[in-house]
Amino acid sequence: MPREFLQTPRVAYYSMEIALRSEVPTYSGGLGVLAGDTVRSAADLEIPLVTVSLVSRMGYFRQSLDASGRQHEEPDPWDPASIARPLQARVAVTIEGRDVWVCGWLYVVAGYTGCRTPVILLDTDVEENEPADRELTHYLYGGDQTYRFKQEIILGIGGTRLLHALGFRVLEYHMNEGHAALLCLELLDRYAYPEKALRPGDSRYDIPRIRNQCNFTTHTPVEAGHDKYPYDLVESVLGDFIDPVILKHLAGEDELNMTRLGLSLSDYINGVAKRHADTSQRMFPGYPIKAITNGVHPHTWTHAAFARLYDQRLTGWCHEPELLVRAECCVDDEAIWSAHETAKRELLDYVKTGTGKTLDPEVCTLGFARRMTAYKRPEMIFTDPGRLRAIAASQPLQIVLSGKAHPRDYDGKRAIESIFRHMQELADAITVVFLPDYNMDIAARLVAGVDLWLNTPLPPMEASGTSGMKAAFNGVPQFSVLDGWWAEGRLEGINGWAVGDGDPREDDASFLYDKLERVILPLYYKDRNGWIQVMKGAISKSASYFNSHRMMRRYTSDAYLR
Ligand SMILES: *Cc1c(COP(=O)(O)O)cnc(C)c1O
Repeated sequence: MPREFLQTPRVAYYSMEIALRSEVPTYSGGLGVLAGDTVRSAADLEIPLVTVSLVSRMGYFRQSLDASGRQHEEPDPWDPASIARPLQARVAVTIEGRDVWVCGWLYVVAGYTGCRTPVILLDTDVEENEPADRELTHYLYGGDQTYRFKQEIILGIGGTRLLHALGFRVLEYHMNEGHAALLCLELLDRYAYPEKALRPGDSRYDIPRIRNQCNFTTHTPVEAGHDKYPYDLVESVLGDFIDPVILKHLAGEDELNMTRLGLSLSDYINGVAKRHADTSQRMFPGYPIKAITNGVHPHTWTHAAFARLYDQRLTGWCHEPELLVRAECCVDDEAIWSAHETAKRELLDYVKTGTGKTLDPEVCTLGFARRMTAYKRPEMIFTDPGRLRAIAASQPLQIVLSGKAHPRDYDGKRAIESIFRHMQELADAITVVFLPDYNMDIAARLVAGVDLWLNTPLPPMEASGTSGMKAAFNGVPQFSVLDGWWAEGRLEGINGWAVGDGDPREDDASFLYDKLERVILPLYYKDRNGWIQVMKGAISKSASYFNSHRMMRRYTSDAYLR
């Protein structure tokens, strides 16, 4: 490990997935993009972080869609040597009673101040390991429950041992979701009192010491998002690594709940938006759950045309995105509109090249792209195709969508097929485009190139959502259900609009149509100046606050330095 990274004590940040670059498939969606933005902001702000993740050599999956919208999945292999370098150290973890060797790749994220921050990608694909063990770090969110538990051993226990072996001095541990919570067991074991120092009845484990070093961020109210393992599986894979009585006390009596384990051993716990912290508090009573609302990385998500504008008028915005509050007074309307036209033209060209479909630059373009899964209700805009047609007859609109469904998320896959049916049905009235194989690059094009960003989750299931924040950096207003960050971020008609009132409702679609028809499209077509004021509102009221620089400064002051 280069000495530059070992000189400063660091916060160790663990994430199962991380979006380092668009084309490196070590991420599946929002959680990984957030992890990437976390590290990019840490580098810009010179916050001493070291990140641990898995190398995922076979990626998440590559999505292709046939004419009826059926999703086909292919492995998405990549070569870590193309962007990272192999580290010399290696450590062993015990899995099913045998040693599994874990080594790592060093990827360096550079901030614009020149600060470099290390990311370590764990890899078990070494000759000494048995063939099946060599594949443990291959597939992101692949395999069965046992495979997943083994991956979490590699991440939590293997990752912590490797940091130690490399010589990192870790002051604080930060778990990005429950996947990494086994790191707490490694720390309990590392700092256990020797048996002979104990009086009868005393615990070997120094729980307060561990809690003092650990921080936990929970990311979803969706039950399936919280990993749980039966104790017989835990015992057969992990053996007697930790006293089972203590483990049950910390992680749940009936099954090992990774979230509960992380919560029990962390003295700083947060949700990723204010509303999500409240929801999480109800799910996990007894643990004090604070809120640090997510953010997105300014430079990564701002189109070059807008970045140039901010560079000229709001010097320093990349370091202090708070300066964007001044956009309202310091940036001209014409300059905003012209930057937007550039981004829109680029998106339309990209769509034309990729799909052959022609979108009209004069037509109001709606964007919807994210993981395709039931609670995000991706089909909501198509609920009443007749109504949508009627609206578009007098005020034209076109829609661009993108998103992958997890290979076992059958509802998510059905949603894509249903979108394809609507796409064909509406073809004579509304152009609808679905871009396959959603990734960071497509996200960046979409959030900058559409006119309106749509989000329709079923409350309170959207913990934060971040794509609407990316849109805000490009002056694209959001039209969203009041859930996640939008519940605290929305200023009606100033930086965007609400769908519904924040309660889960069957009739959200009719709210959506009403507002689109009576408020949003009339503003777009009849009052361009008024529309540009909302674009400025998105920049000054949303982007200035909902960015990962603010988020990381908050983690530093509230969690790491507490
Ligand atoms: C930002 C992003 C997401 C997350 O979008 P949400 O609106 O938060 O669900 C998912 N995938 C990719 C590729 C992204 O860039």
